[in-house]
Amino acid sequence: MKSCPSCGNEINDNAILCVNCGTELNSVEKATADLSCIQKNIKLIFIGLLLLGVAFVFSSIWGVATAFLHSLIGSTVFTIINGIFGLAFNGLRIAGLVLGFIGCLNIKKEIENK
Ligand SMILES: [Zn+2]
Repeated sequence: MKSCPSCGNEINDNAILCVNCGTELNSVEKATADLSCIQKNIKLIFIGLLLLGVAFVFSSIWGVATAFLHSLIGSTVFTIINGIFGLAFNGLRIAGLVLGFIGCLNIKKEIENK
């Protein structure tokens, strides 16, 4: 025996409709699965946007700090550090874009499958 997701009434495992409230059992299960898939992908897109935001803020701060650092630590060391930071910022940007793209693609696929 399982219970109706809508009213909680106990129903037969093979039942298509709830005898108490008439809820279509398979469609409710499918809708719940679709929604959780979409929510998961929206979370992915949010994380992607967050990474893009972090990269934007920190690269802006880094841009302001570069002139000061350049005079402080000399040209050679600065070039190396600047290169490493540039790679790190671009890594964040790429990760953010990829996560957002995958999330959008998964939601598009999920909607088209309905
Ligand atoms: Zn019911």
